[in-house]
Amino acid sequence: MARLVMKFGGTSVADIDRIRNVARHVKREVDAGHEVAVVVSAMAGKTNELVAWAREAAPLHDAREYDAVVASGEQVTAGLLAIMLEGMGVNARSWQGWQLPILTSNAHASARIEDINGDELIKRFRERREVAVIAGFQGVNKATGRITTLGRGGSDTSAVAIAAAIRADRCDIYTDVDGVYTTDPRVVPHAQRLEKIAFEEMLEMASLGAKVMQVRSIELGMVHNVRIFVRSSFDRPEDIDPMSNHPPGTLICDESEIMEQQVVTGIAFSKDEAQISIRHVPDKPGVAAAIFGPLAEANVNVDMIVQNISADGSTTDLTFTVPSSDYERANVVLKKSKDAIGYASLDGSTDVAKVSVIGIGMRSHAGVAAQAFKSLAGKKINIRAITTSEIKFSLLIDVGRTDEAVRTLHSLYGLDK
Ligand code: ADP
Ligand code: ASP
Ligand code: MG
Repeated sequence: MARLVMKFGGTSVADIDRIRNVARHVKREVDAGHEVAVVVSAMAGKTNELVAWAREAAPLHDAREYDAVVASGEQVTAGLLAIMLEGMGVNARSWQGWQLPILTSNAHASARIEDINGDELIKRFRERREVAVIAGFQGVNKATGRITTLGRGGSDTSAVAIAAAIRADRCDIYTDVDGVYTTDPRVVPHAQRLEKIAFEEMLEMASLGAKVMQVRSIELGMVHNVRIFVRSSFDRPEDIDPMSNHPPGTLICDESEIMEQQVVTGIAFSKDEAQISIRHVPDKPGVAAAIFGPLAEANVNVDMIVQNISADGSTTDLTFTVPSSDYERANVVLKKSKDAIGYASLDGSTDVAKVSVIGIGMRSHAGVAAQAFKSLAGKKINIRAITTSEIKFSLLIDVGRTDEAVRTLHSLYGLDK
């Protein structure tokens, strides 16, 4: 007997038939003798619709009310799944974030989970063999008692946090792909499914744009050593052998569990980037602080930073990237600080994308990035900025060339099937 968390994403609960298929997956695990907590997302498209309604009501709205609105999608699916499980003869009860409770910070719309009390769930597993069906994405702030949400894709984080809280043996993430691929299979159809990927690599993949898992869920998995298995919800429950239970999927686990390490594991990309260049900035101590201090205060996430060494020793240019959603705000902040910084002009563009190459093997291999520069040059794809770290490098390019660049790098590093 094992204790499992099963998480189902939006496409997996898109309509009543799919929720019924989910219920059959849950029943399969219960029949095999396991204790099960299920975490569900809202039906596909529902959260987008709720977000749009909140914006339509008022473009600038109170984040507490945004959370009250957008948390409702998960409440519906949790109730529906519990009804269907009961209909199949499986004891089940739905739980909203405040009922467990899942306690979070007060940062509405991007709250962080602080604590989860799993005692009641464990008691019910033991006493009634009851399946807990938990609304993902939401929690409650203890001080205010108000509903919070965890940021887009947050149900992954709900699932991993619950797995840690109830000391689950495994956290299964059921989604619309049968695992984590070398890159987004929607862009490169011949991308390969990875059998295993290390937490650190998955963390880079997710933060650099692979939205298959929310970044925070991987951080939690890493800290609490939760084994996360990404798999497809479209497999038919009756085709899964309960004894072997080895469906295709990807295990996200500790690096030490991975025997054969490739140099490059995967390629991620993000089109939600904007580039800002500040021209003729005085080349003297304190200028970087004058630029990035006010941006940090305004909660603008600065990513790649490139600064030239000035030729004449007096002024230089500085380029950096921000998420495109922060672009306008960053411009306002920089215009306000124009005198304090003392630059000549400001320009920027949202027509850029960041393509990143990730692999733990890069720690021990030189020249991996140089190969990329050469092959992108061969395709006349211009690189606007570069950043590197121990297990990844990122390139800023024109957004229109993203898919081509991803495909080029994918074959360059031998990731094609
Ligand atoms: P869910 O609704 O189940 O949470 P998401 O849409 O959030 O599902 O995540 C699954 C999607 O992530 C896939 O359909 C796929 O297009 C995308 N994706 C991006 N990068 C990858 C990758 N490297 N491997 C697998 N899927 C990826
Ligand atoms: N429904 C939420 C969203 O679309 C949370 C999730 O699905 O993970 O972002
Ligand atoms: Mg998701």
